[in-house]
Amino acid sequence: MTAKIINGKDIAAKKKIEIAQEVKQLKAKGVTPGLAVILVGNNHASRTYVTNKQKTCEELGMYSILIEMPEETTEEELLTKIKGLNGDTKIHGILVQLPLPKQIDEKKVIEAIAPEKDVDGFHPINIGRMLTGQNAFLPCTPYGIMVLLEESGISLSGKHAVVVGRSNIVGKPVGQLLLNHNATVTYCHSKTKDLPFHTKQADILIAAVGIPNFITAEHVKEGAVVIDVGINRNEEGKLCGDVAFNEVSEIAGFITPVPKGVGPMTITMLMYNTVQSAKQSIE
Ligand code: NAD
Repeated sequence: MTAKIINGKDIAAKKKIEIAQEVKQLKAKGVTPGLAVILVGNNHASRTYVTNKQKTCEELGMYSILIEMPEETTEEELLTKIKGLNGDTKIHGILVQLPLPKQIDEKKVIEAIAPEKDVDGFHPINIGRMLTGQNAFLPCTPYGIMVLLEESGISLSGKHAVVVGRSNIVGKPVGQLLLNHNATVTYCHSKTKDLPFHTKQADILIAAVGIPNFITAEHVKEGAVVIDVGINRNEEGKLCGDVAFNEVSEIAGFITPVPKGVGPMTITMLMYNTVQSAKQSIE
């Protein structure tokens, strides 16, 4: 069997057309969706992510500002900056690029963002709303995965989904969203015993581990849907996921590649959330 490829780049492109249309409609009503991105310090990868986010805003006709703060920024300075953006009517989404320098408490920063502008979906209020099935900003990568599954016509109700990884930004929330869509969910993590025993039962397998080629053919059931969240570099410095693509795609029914899989959906859902926030600001 050779798996069908879930092309995240194409699905993201389709979603971006819809988002650009919504931006146009909002502008006609006098509101331009605005995203503020705060970058603290000199993390090279963070700078690349931030630049991509700004470029996408521009591409979709949205307003964006980048606030750069030095490595030695204090927690108080950052919190003051966020407070200012919470009250800025031109800004509908606030994103603080993680990781932050060690003198700053990430949790305090996330909690300082007004929940109605928390387009990353990391604020405990949004997480709690998601958990209880209420209207919330959903974290962008998990949300992007749900859109990939939906756009690929994959039904979730009654399916067994196995999530490998339990981070607050990917593993935990994607499992919760799958549960909200009536999947039976198993979480696996670094302390799980006999990982292949669990993953082999998955109709839908989500790999969010951060180890190149971690999920191999022995972990996958014939015909399973395999979603590879990992963004890693292999020994040759080439971008790769958590899944050994060549061997797993021989067994799986559907698979996301890396690149052009989950990655392009993350920024797309960030834009989507920002536009929804702008919409809510005039409702
Ligand atoms: P993380 O390091 O916070 O979490 C990794 C998880 O993997 C942990 O919960 C841990 O328990 C689990 N794990 C580690 N070793 C394991 C093992 N031997 N067996 C089973 N589980 C194990 O990482 P994260 O932030 O969730 O990111 C995971 C991967 O996804 C990384 O490669 C990251 O770069 C990528 N990522 C991609 C996107 C995207 O937009 N595509 C977004 C966020 C993260």
